[in-house]
Amino acid sequence: MIIVMGPSATEQQVDAVIHKIKEFGLDVNVSRGTERTVVGAIGDERKLDPEMFDALPGVEQSMHIVKPYKIVGREWHKENTVIDIKGVKLGGNQVQVIGGPCSVETQEQMDLAAEQVAAAGCRLMRGGAFKPRTSPYAFQGHGVEGLAIFRRAADKYHLPIVTELMDVRMLDTFLEYDVDVIQIGTRNMQNFDLLKEVGRTSKPVILKRGMSATISEWLMAAEYIAAGGNHNIIFCERGIRTFETAYRNVLDITAIAMLKKESHLPVIIDPSHAGGKAWMVPALALGAVAAGADGLLVEMHPNPCEAWCDADQALNPQEFKSLMGTIKGVAEAIGRTV
Ligand code: PEP
Ligand code: MN
Repeated sequence: MIIVMGPSATEQQVDAVIHKIKEFGLDVNVSRGTERTVVGAIGDERKLDPEMFDALPGVEQSMHIVKPYKIVGREWHKENTVIDIKGVKLGGNQVQVIGGPCSVETQEQMDLAAEQVAAAGCRLMRGGAFKPRTSPYAFQGHGVEGLAIFRRAADKYHLPIVTELMDVRMLDTFLEYDVDVIQIGTRNMQNFDLLKEVGRTSKPVILKRGMSATISEWLMAAEYIAAGGNHNIIFCERGIRTFETAYRNVLDITAIAMLKKESHLPVIIDPSHAGGKAWMVPALALGAVAAGADGLLVEMHPNPCEAWCDADQALNPQEFKSLMGTIKGVAEAIGRTV
């Protein structure tokens, strides 16, 4: 960390800063320029926070010089991480599409969806048993029974399952049902207790970006999971909230480039919750793959008109299959497979 002293800082003020750094067991390097004195803290600067210094008299500004996200950052881990989900590799050359309905409704609906997801060439399936709905009166998901329905449907087609965990008290049940990928939804990106608990498991985790989360907050949320020992983390950009109201959210494609630079972990895109309309999904999905996304999380439904949740944005089976074909074309153009 470096602490830049103001132009009129006194020697006592510089000494106070030095004293504070030493209190935390770090070494100090003082550089006295003609206009400013800069104090450098040498050692494990995770113990220090800019706020500890900014409040001291004479300090103009203090900042970290190494990234606060150690495990998920590329600084310390140069190669891309490839996550193995029951033999399906996410983060390698092959782009993975995770398809399925927003929510688990009935056994028939999930059986059909699983068949259609597999027929389209997908290797992973999504479906929500616990749904974070804006209204408490809306369908909240079938809960544990939904996990059982999902498991039965997906197992017939050997599809690993991706489903959202909202409450830490359900984690053991998720492990009992051997949920293959735990999704942490947008509304829980900074539920730090939940992040810590999934960090103690070895299950792959999809960490969706918070509604208005900065890249740095998102990376730090992933660091919470990683700090517990679970490094199988997949970032999922699903659109952020801006002034625009013409679509559900604004898909931040820039985040792909930024995360790829800052982190070694895979990045996937959810074009469904970004656009919020089925007709937008192909454009956003193709853009994301062209920009370097390692995968897509796409909502499809055997009969979108009858979907219990997010009906507007679900692709029908034909649209979904045809999207898989166009994704293949874009992926191949940039040297990847689907
Ligand atoms: C979902 O994937 O069904 C979902 C609720 O997504 P998000 O957390 O991105 O809103
Ligand atoms: Mn949804």
